[in-house]
Amino acid sequence: MTDHPDFDRFLLQGTIPEEEKQERYTGVFSFSSYKYSLFHFCRKAWYFHYILAQGGWDRYAEDSSRQAYKEKYLLSFSAFLSGIVISSIKESLPVIREEEKEEKRRDALLDAVRFHASKHIFYANNFLREGGMENDPRKLSFSDLYYRTGRFENTEDLIENSKDVLRGFFLDLPETEYFRSIAFLPSPAWHLAGKFPSFSLDGLPIYLAPCLYALSGGFFYRFPVYFHDHPQKEDGLLSADGLFGLYAANQYPGHRGKIHCVYYQEQEKLLTEKSFLPSPAEKENIFSAAKEMMELMQDPQPENFSYTEKKERCSFCRFRGICHKLQNGGTVRAF
Ligand code: SF4
Repeated sequence: MTDHPDFDRFLLQGTIPEEEKQERYTGVFSFSSYKYSLFHFCRKAWYFHYILAQGGWDRYAEDSSRQAYKEKYLLSFSAFLSGIVISSIKESLPVIREEEKEEKRRDALLDAVRFHASKHIFYANNFLREGGMENDPRKLSFSDLYYRTGRFENTEDLIENSKDVLRGFFLDLPETEYFRSIAFLPSPAWHLAGKFPSFSLDGLPIYLAPCLYALSGGFFYRFPVYFHDHPQKEDGLLSADGLFGLYAANQYPGHRGKIHCVYYQEQEKLLTEKSFLPSPAEKENIFSAAKEMMELMQDPQPENFSYTEKKERCSFCRFRGICHKLQNGGTVRAF
């Protein structure tokens, strides 16, 4: 059996600390922008992710726990594509180490990125064809296929679509400032070690979203890629960008955080980019959100976690399966 598409799963899963993936809650609380945004998206979804799904990897766990665990790893098509591109760029950086001429650096990088992206698609295709999605949800499992949304007829269709979208993306990418910045940064600038950059804010562990990071010329850079099939909205409460700004200010005094990002609308095949200096997140906002979460975790009964009132969110929530089931008479374990 092909055992590959665990490739850079961490890039696709947001900032979920390793210990939270493997063990029950141990009392050590950590903070991340993913945890925070899920909390504001829906308290019940947060409960499914951080509480009910714990232990769901065990085949003797309760059905509800196993189902929440499975749904926790569901991936959107857009996140799949973003993960492939970031992984491929990261894997391609060594090819420009020896290349000095600017044009050649860009061309060499582009060739390598395309090669690695094709490799990831190839592995993903094999993995899906062999039923990997059912065997191990952590490796590669798609929300559209699990919920049969109709967007893709089957796994082959999903793979063909991903090739098509990436083809369009790679036509436009070389002309972006984003790509030029990556190609022309000196090799020692890259910070690739460690899956989850993290820091301690007055004793509170904070994890950043995994991404490409580089330190050069007084800036600490972050290079995210966002694929999406509809216009994105930020809730503006506390973004991953703000946490990154705080991280840069804390870890690299005298440097500023800078974000270069590209957005690609899959349907319209439209690429846009943006560069900006993020304002560091306010410490008070982080501590008040962390306090709220910790208080709920003191008594993690299912009824303490409310369903969102914004019902339009349910149509794309990854936990809509277990949520619907429990609202219709399923049971949840008591703590
Ligand atoms: S389906 Fe709706 S109510 Fe249920 S967890 Fe998801 S967002 Fe919350």
